[in-house]
Amino acid sequence: MKILEKYNKCTFCNSKKLVRSNEKNPLNNFYVRAIKSDLNISNQLINKIKVYKCLRCKIKLNNPWFNKNISNKIFSTIYGQHNRSWENLLNFMNNRILPNHGLLYDLLNKNIKIKNYAEYNSPFMGLFLNFYFNETRQNSKYYKTLHNNLINYLSSRQLAGSSIKQKILSEKKSRNFAIKINQLKKKLKHKKNIIKTLFIDNSSLGWGLNDNHKSVGSKTYAHELFDLQILNLIYHKKYSFDLFGIFHSLDHTFEPSKLLNFALKNSKFVVIYCHNQKNGVTKQHQFSITEDFLRYLNKKKIYNINLTSIIDKSFNTSEIYFICSKSKRNIINLKKKIYG
Ligand SMILES: [Zn+2]
Repeated sequence: MKILEKYNKCTFCNSKKLVRSNEKNPLNNFYVRAIKSDLNISNQLINKIKVYKCLRCKIKLNNPWFNKNISNKIFSTIYGQHNRSWENLLNFMNNRILPNHGLLYDLLNKNIKIKNYAEYNSPFMGLFLNFYFNETRQNSKYYKTLHNNLINYLSSRQLAGSSIKQKILSEKKSRNFAIKINQLKKKLKHKKNIIKTLFIDNSSLGWGLNDNHKSVGSKTYAHELFDLQILNLIYHKKYSFDLFGIFHSLDHTFEPSKLLNFALKNSKFVVIYCHNQKNGVTKQHQFSITEDFLRYLNKKKIYNINLTSIIDKSFNTSEIYFICSKSKRNIINLKKKIYG
């Protein structure tokens, strides 16, 4: 079975001007250990993956890297659950702790009039939880009870293979969970919420087909919790958002440039959160954004502000936050508001 494939063109800008970097790839993390173990591949093979830098857009890439089929397998079979994303959700629903984005949410909410917000894939990595908490403001018990009922309800109809007796029993259970969920949601009815949209696709670089916790899919759960509209990402369709968030998912698609352009075209602002790997590129990623990449975007008239050091967040790994727009005026005005 062929596992690695050559990536001789930049995944972001398509340039062939890739140069070998002398940066060493990081040591194997839990993702890479799972990949190696499940695919039964040697260190020798995995060490063939080298770091390159694109001279045009300045991202860093792994080359050769896993082929598309293996990539799909990595993010569905081998590590189907997006660990960090679900940890964010569970932390909130069980302990009322919001995902750590430092002051990002407050900063954006204060300075941009947001009525219509969208994200791409991984629904618990971004700001949906922040918006939801801001709109609901309930105590810990509320979220915990809602969570238990949601998980029970969403898994209660998985009855294939059960006996008729079990199926009848389960019908009553499902109904009770649904009633409880509706009662809890009714408490919040009078609030005016922003419109939330999640765009999804089945990129072979992204978690999707098997992103579950206790047999419940992340998108289904998010749909119920946030009252989201979930739309298939179709690049030529037109929308109008105030803010579009791409949270740890720009580097989880093979069409990052198309995705970014889609978001920019359909939104006043696009906020992006991704890895900014200092030494090489972790092997479960095909590429990593860099700080120089922001300068490239600027040259391409995608105006941006690096928010990494502004949002007062303590980072566990090297990551970058930035906001961008095709409108220079939008960015200049936002800069004024942020810096005074
Ligand atoms: Zn490039």
